[in-house]
Formats: sequence, structure tokens, C-alpha cells
Amino acid sequence: MTQHVTGDPAGRPDDTIVSLATAPGRSAVALIRLSGPEAFSIAAKHVSPWSGTPRQARLCTIHDHGEALDQALVIVFPGPDSFTGEDIVEISTHGGLLVPASVIAALLSSGARQAFAGEFTRRAVLNGKLDILQAEAIGDLIDARSHAMRRSALGQLDGGLSRRLLVLRQDLIGLEALIAYDIDFPEEDDGPVPRERIEGAIRSLRDALEKLLATGSVGELIREGAVVVIAGAPNVGKSSLFNALVGRSRAIVTEIPGTTRDAIEAVIGGGTWPLRLVDTAGLRSTADSVERMGIEVSERYLSDAHVVLACADTEPGLEQTVRLARAKSSAPIVPVRTKSDLVSSRDNLAVPPGAVSVSAEAGTGLQDLLSAIEEILGKSQGEIEPDFPMLTSARHRHAIEEAQSELLGFERAWREEKLPPTVASVHLRAAVVALEELVGSIDVEDVLDRVFSSFCVGK
Ligand code: GDP
Repeated sequence: MTQHVTGDPAGRPDDTIVSLATAPGRSAVALIRLSGPEAFSIAAKHVSPWSGTPRQARLCTIHDHGEALDQALVIVFPGPDSFTGEDIVEISTHGGLLVPASVIAALLSSGARQAFAGEFTRRAVLNGKLDILQAEAIGDLIDARSHAMRRSALGQLDGGLSRRLLVLRQDLIGLEALIAYDIDFPEEDDGPVPRERIEGAIRSLRDALEKLLATGSVGELIREGAVVVIAGAPNVGKSSLFNALVGRSRAIVTEIPGTTRDAIEAVIGGGTWPLRLVDTAGLRSTADSVERMGIEVSERYLSDAHVVLACADTEPGLEQTVRLARAKSSAPIVPVRTKSDLVSSRDNLAVPPGAVSVSAEAGTGLQDLLSAIEEILGKSQGEIEPDFPMLTSARHRHAIEEAQSELLGFERAWREEKLPPTVASVHLRAAVVALEELVGSIDVEDVLDRVFSSFCVGK
């Protein structure tokens, strides 16, 4: 049963839609969601006994053409107090492939339509149950690969970022009003609006936008993961280190197949940041291996890296590897002395300061290495302020940059007094629009198309 239905749901908001909300396959339970104006009448044809009592779980028989399909738990959520804002019926059937598919087929035969990707959340947005930032947060929560991402997505779902943006929008509108007052009532008894008041409003808006924008790099890092490149000559133990680190956090590893042809990548979580470990080892065997290290690790990875692990299994090799890595990357470097199990304890003392010694074979030093990476990222990216909302995607950053540049445009025009204030305030309007588009209060359809292009069916 394939669940990837794509298409344009925009023109069909009155259809009653159905979909499996859980992943298809062998499982104890599968959740089917039915939403729309006919949800109750369609469900009533297949659910016995049917009861419209809101939000009460009831064990029912699901049937089609007189044949029982399953015993399932049915809950009814009348709109508008539901996830989508429409009438919803949730049916928890037994899992597997056949049972949920048969129940969905029965509902389809009675007039429901298979939902498009992200259509439930899209309806929630269109019906004012969620704004776009909250809808994005649902996607981020499902895709979360680290606790930091989960926390940030949950804060965004709770409306933290939306509230912050709406305060900024109000402040921009306040500034617009000051300018409009100045234009409309220049001869008022109270006199014109003092310049300092407008200056102050501009300054505080500038600072607030700046502060929010500064969260962008941390937010995107939390979402995308920090790129940690394992660099070094062939045979120093890079692949073994990669496997040991991945194996250590097996529970939260996500393999990303096919993202590159010239490297293996895996995301490991568990710490503050998801780490995108990149192993470029074993790709080319070269004679003058150390000298070719810079070639072995592709320039692209080194330039994208947030941290480079410069690996070597000898002292001179380590110095040379660090030097080569430094020449190729501006990212912080952790010197990693590999195969420490082969080194006698006397030699081990010779590991240079700041270097971490690890043994993939014995599994030692791995936690020290992860802590060193965390510390470096904490220093270079700044601490995460627990309750301050963060920008977590390029879409967020672009909108704030847009608002910032419009505010700057206004400030220039207003200071130089070359443009009439009415024209200067066009910039303020554009800044307001940039924030509104980010939260999703205007041009909803257009923004929705972009946001939901990555959603799967049933969300
Ligand atoms: P790469 O080419 O840098 O990826 O190196 P590999 O991970 O393929 O390792 C090269 C060789 O070193 C293999 O024979 C590994 O078994 C061995 N090796 C890797 N790590 C360790 C280690 O921690 N201890 C020991 N004793 N051998 C290791």
C-alpha cells in the first residue's frame, strides 16, 4: 500500500479526506483519520454501533457490505474543536497491511477521498487552528534527530516564535502609525511626533530583529545537524572510528542513503546537536597518502564542515594531518590520535594538548571525543537560550532579513528626508508583510505549497 499521494488539494477544500496517519506495515495498531464535512455520515455507514458522542473512545466493529473488517477503537471529534477544525473520525484498527487498507477502501467507496501529502495540517492552517510556523513545527517534531531539535520544535508548535513575531509586527505597525500621525496631523496642538520617539522605535526594532536573526545559525544547526568531517590519510582508522561512533548511538542513527556518491554520512543524536558524521575514507588509495589527504576529503565537505576530526595513528602523522586540515578548512579542528590500544601507556602521554586519543577497536575515548565536539560547537555557535524562540530554517531567516532590510530602507529614507514620509513608510509596510508571510497570515496558499511540499500523507 503506497501512501505517497501528491497533487494540489487547494481547490478541493470541501472533500472529506481519509488517510493512514501511522506508518504502513506490521504493527499492533494503525490510525486512520477521516476529516471533512461528510466524515460522520461516511463513518456511520461502516462503524457499529455508531455514536456521535464527542471525544469518547468506543470499541466498534468496522464493516463493509455486511462483512466485519476489524474491531477498532473509534473517536469522534466534531469541528471546529478538532485538529483540522473540521469533523474528524479517528479509527484505530489493528496494524499490518490488509486491515487498515480494507477499512480505508470502505471509507473511500462511501465518498471519502485519499488525502494529499500534508493535507490534514494544511486544513488546520486554513481553518485557523495552527499558523504556518506551528505547521512547520509538526514536521520538525516528527523529523527531530536530537533533543535540542525536539525542544525547539515543541516551543515553535506552542506558538513561541509566532508570538515573538507578532510582537515585532505590532511594533512595526506602531511605528507606521507614528509616521502616519505625523503626516496627517502636522498642525496638531500636541505638535509633531518628537524625532527621538521615532528614533527609539527604530532602534528597538532593529535590535529585536538582530537578536532574532542571530538565533538563525544555531536554529538551523539544530535542525540540519553539525557537519563533522572525519579526515586523515588512508588506513589511520577513519571508517572504524565512524562505525564506532555510529554504533555507539545506534538508537538514534539515521543513515542518509544517496546524499553523496563520494562519502558516507550518518546523523547521530543524543547530545545537544545532531551530528552529521561524514566519512570520506576508503574512496581512493593513493601512494603518497598523507600528502593526498586534502584530496581524499573532498573540498566541499571541508568547506561545509562545522568541525573537522583530523585523524592519525602516529605522532608525526597527527601534526601533519592537523596542518593539512587547517590549510583546507576554516572549521575548528580536533586532533584525534587513533588506535590508542596499540600505543604503550608511555607513548600515550605524548598526545598533544587538545588532542583526543581513541580506540575504535577497544571503544575507548569515544565519549571524550563527543564531549570535545560538543564543547567546540558550544563555543563557536554560542549557548542555546532555553526559552528564546529560534529561527530554524532558511525560510525564517530570509523573511527576517527582508524585514531588516526594509526597516533599514525606511530608516535611511526617513533620516535623509529626501523621500516624503509616506513613501518611506512603504518600507515599513513591506517589513510588516515579510513577518506576516512568515507566520502565514497572508498569501497562505502560496506559502502552504512551499511548506507542505516535504510533508507525507496523514500529517
Ligand atoms: P581508514 O582507511 O582510515 O578508514 O581506516 P580503517 O578504519 O579502514 O582502518 C584501517 C585498519 O586499521 C584496519 O585494519 C582496522 O582494523 C585497523 N584499525 C582501525 N581502528 C583501529 C583501532 O582502534 N585499533 C586497532 N588496533 N586497529 C584499528
